[in-house]
Amino acid sequence: MLSRGFKQGRCILARLDHGADIVKQISDLLDKEKIEAAAFYAIGALAEAEIAYYDQVSHEYRKISINEPVELVSCTGNVSLRDGQPFLHAHATLAFSDGKAIGGHLTSGRVFAVEAFVQELLGEPLVREHDSTTSLYLWGQ
Ligand code: ZN
Repeated sequence: MLSRGFKQGRCILARLDHGADIVKQISDLLDKEKIEAAAFYAIGALAEAEIAYYDQVSHEYRKISINEPVELVSCTGNVSLRDGQPFLHAHATLAFSDGKAIGGHLTSGRVFAVEAFVQELLGEPLVREHDSTTSLYLWGQ
């Protein structure tokens, strides 16, 4: 197991722009605030979204497109470095109009209304490296 301790930095609340992509807008915020390590949470609603399921046998993401408005019931993730840049890894639970939910690795989502929380973590940021066992980019040194 790899673990590392951090100190808490800034807590940032953000209302995302209507029509923006949730992942892009959070990534822009990380760049602007120069945040390289963080915990991330968001709730709200998306006009459409794309999530993915990682197939542990084929080692490929299977895309799941959601082409209708959904509640962003819960979105949680973290920030570390990948290729020298802050990288947001987020998972989302999305609920349809009947209340049934779907979830997965969040790749994109068009914001209807989203409230996000970023907890900056101070210390040496974790760096994502290719892991040959999973074919994922996991935390290395
Ligand atoms: Zn994921």
